[in-house]
Amino acid sequence: MIKTRAIVLHRFPYSDSSFIIKALTEVCGIISFIVKGGKKKESPFRGALDPLALCEIVFHQNPNSDLQFIKEATLLDWRKNLRNDLLSLAKAQVMTEMILRYAPQGVPLQEEFARLEQAISEFDETSGGSANAPTHKSNIFARWLLDTCDMWGYNLDLTTCCRCGHILEKPAADFFPETGGFVCQACLGVEHPRARLETLNGLWALQTGDKIEHPEFTENALLTYLRHHIGFLKEIHSIKFLNETRKLFERP
Ligand SMILES: [Zn+2]
Repeated sequence: MIKTRAIVLHRFPYSDSSFIIKALTEVCGIISFIVKGGKKKESPFRGALDPLALCEIVFHQNPNSDLQFIKEATLLDWRKNLRNDLLSLAKAQVMTEMILRYAPQGVPLQEEFARLEQAISEFDETSGGSANAPTHKSNIFARWLLDTCDMWGYNLDLTTCCRCGHILEKPAADFFPETGGFVCQACLGVEHPRARLETLNGLWALQTGDKIEHPEFTENALLTYLRHHIGFLKEIHSIKFLNETRKLFERP
């Protein structure tokens, strides 16, 4: 019997009364579960296995099956604030879809679990309007993307000029998301930068810990960088939803 915390990444209906969920477990990585009777009102798992919820599950791992049965599921945190914050929710969905599609299957993913749990908790905390939240809400997704680059072996060096090797002391003068290279002002010279100022300032703020003013530029630059490295053969559907949601929140 295995007892582990888990974050539900995805859930879809299976038959009239059941669900299949894919969850990132703290102990065993990504596991698919069938939740018999999960749609019923009186299901003992109700709420515990909602997407993005943090729960503790008990199951017996059958090595001969792709689908496991959950014996017990206890809700630890439903993320109430996050569910009321559309933009944070859209970003959290991109994170869970990326893990589902690109994280290795069938292996423990302790670091992925820790990073995702931290980011979702921070979204929930900052969405609740907590004045003394330790994080800038606009940095959370970009921070998670940067950590994910690191975790999956595509470390991004935000503080070194890729041409002269000098340490940057202010925001880079340009950034190439295809290679992940930052260029200092001296090396860029009179060339016109391709990256926008918002992107360069945002990536700088990410490493100094200051608030990112226009996070969508920084997030998109990091997504482009990851896309070039992972190859994103499978498109991430929730990015479309994120882009639609961003439009709703654009300043006039
Ligand atoms: Zn340089």
